[in-house]
Amino acid sequence: MTHFDVVVIGAGAAGMFAAMRAGQRGRCVLLLEHTDEPGRKILISGGGRCNFTNLGCVPERFLSANPHFARSALARYTQHDFVALVRRHGIAFHEKTLGQLFCDGSARQIVAMLLAECAAAGVALRVSHRVTDISRADRFTIATDHGDFSAESLVLATGGLSIPKMGATGFAHDVARRFGLPLVTPRPGLVPFTFDGAMLDLMRPLAGVALPVVARAGRAAFAEAMLFTHRGLSGPAVLQASSYWAPGDPVTVDLAPGHDASAALLAAKRARPKAEPRTILADLLPQRLAQALAALQLPPRVIGEVADAPLKALGALLNRWSLTPAGTEGYAKAEVTLGGIDTAALSQKTMEAKHVPGLFAVGEAVDVTGWLGGYNFQWAWSSGWAAGEAA
Ligand SMILES: Cc1cc2nc3c(=O)[nH]c(=O)nc-3n(C[C@H](O)[C@H](O)[C@H](O)COP(=O)(O)OP(=O)(O)OC[C@H]3O[C@@H](n4cnc5c(N)ncnc54)[C@H](O)[C@@H]3O)c2cc1C
Repeated sequence: MTHFDVVVIGAGAAGMFAAMRAGQRGRCVLLLEHTDEPGRKILISGGGRCNFTNLGCVPERFLSANPHFARSALARYTQHDFVALVRRHGIAFHEKTLGQLFCDGSARQIVAMLLAECAAAGVALRVSHRVTDISRADRFTIATDHGDFSAESLVLATGGLSIPKMGATGFAHDVARRFGLPLVTPRPGLVPFTFDGAMLDLMRPLAGVALPVVARAGRAAFAEAMLFTHRGLSGPAVLQASSYWAPGDPVTVDLAPGHDASAALLAAKRARPKAEPRTILADLLPQRLAQALAALQLPPRVIGEVADAPLKALGALLNRWSLTPAGTEGYAKAEVTLGGIDTAALSQKTMEAKHVPGLFAVGEAVDVTGWLGGYNFQWAWSSGWAAGEAA
């Protein structure tokens, strides 16, 4: 059996950061990964350019049963700290929108940076290692298909359940449960909605149509783009809303943000009575959507011959389209997993389990989930750093 001070399980964003920081402190660190490649999710993130943080990162943009939990870690390793690291490695980046920072080149640069930092900190990285058992006496024993390791500190960094084909597992949740740590029920987040019946019949032919909207679910509202898909709705506004949505609840979409659609339709009726409603609607909406909604909601007449009431009703629908999704695309398409290891069981300063000294949990495995736009990687860096400082 080989002994290390710290064993980190999962070489994703949070695991590499925790290993790096612990190594920088002089700890002897082993980083175990079960796939053959570290940082796979980083590689596919942000369309291959990795939206690695957000300039507007504040604790209010994270979901958790304890909305204050993330404050400490986010304050001690901030988005500006990560930006400074990226600059030190000479990686060119740009702000795309809403504070979102992306590599100019490729997400591979972020993985290469993390691997270089881990190597400089003396971290031993072993890929294609399957953990078969974990036990704890005076120290942790981690059994793998390549032999056993022991450690004073064990960091769970195996992420959530999203995108199983990328290597996601419920491993951290299972280990947490085994050590008596409670879980907040996991569910897919930042995930497209699916619809059925007449609503799907309306949406399916619109697949590919995108427009700016305000999407609301629960207490949250997001002004970003929405995209119709073959199965329902996606796009940033919808993905964001999905994290605040509970099955059976409606989602409200404003298809014409900033416009009073009823007033606009009534004004158009007086100004251009010979125009077809779909032509008028196309001033507010993409043409295909305008055509579909006009056909669904209005009689086939020029707008001057349509009574005010159906025009007002259509306007109200445009500004407050209330939709009840049949469900979501699930973990296969979810960018993140909501829920996870209950923060009540962890120190917010170190990410160590309160009742299991030496056991740490970081990143997406924990019940802290960020908005779309670089927040989830920032949580991975910040929580990884916090654990690496103490493990
Ligand atoms: C398509 C997509 C795009 C995304 N884009 C962005 C983005 O641009 N910006 C952003 O902020 N967030 C983005 N996210 C979310 C972000 O990728 C995650 O929140 C982040 O990767 C979580 O980091 P983590 O280290 O906790 O988990 P992960 O990155 O999932 O890493 C966990 C690691 O543990 C390994 N592992 C799992 N089980 C075991 C086991 N039993 N034994 C050993 N190893 C194991 C996994 O293979 C993986 O390497 C995206 C997610 C997806 C799916």
